[in-house]
Amino acid sequence: MDGNIVSAFIGIGSNLGYPSRQVEAAIDRLSELRGSRLLARSSLYRSTPFGGVEQPDFINAAVHLETTLSPHDLLDGLQHVERAHGRERDGQRWGPRVLDLDLLVYGDSRISEPGLEVPHPGIAERNFVLLPLSEIAPDLDIPGLGPLSSIEVNYREPQIERIA
Ligand code: AMP
Repeated sequence: MDGNIVSAFIGIGSNLGYPSRQVEAAIDRLSELRGSRLLARSSLYRSTPFGGVEQPDFINAAVHLETTLSPHDLLDGLQHVERAHGRERDGQRWGPRVLDLDLLVYGDSRISEPGLEVPHPGIAERNFVLLPLSEIAPDLDIPGLGPLSSIEVNYREPQIERIA
């Protein structure tokens, strides 16, 4: 790889279609993204859904990539992987989904545009993002938020457990 290499973190979630398999397959696909290399992946976590919609538990994970892709090209790549997993983008908010990929952190960039917010605004409130991320990047500093280790994790809501 050449060009500017940036460290990026992606959050993964699925609660339909054998979610563990969806997440594992997504990690494989992310490791093959052009201009990118997989540096680390977390274990799988199981979390109870939140947002008041009756639906199956989620499987979550996070990965660390280094990439030469711009943040927009990386988001395009993530959406391409989501579509390859049959994700339909017009579903219910907080509803069930085959695959959800979030660009959590892109180097030290702070982006606030209609289609792209980085760092992802949900990081601090979501234990199903914080726990996998802390596993692979305990020393991460989140632009605008500070050290990951200083963010308090709520273990109760949603309920979450590491499964593999
Ligand atoms: P969701 O339903 O959570 O998958 O939301 C997807 C929408 O969020 C897409 O239309 C993206 O353009 C937008 N979005 C904004 N910021 C981000 C981000 N950091 N990662 C992923 N999607 C994002």
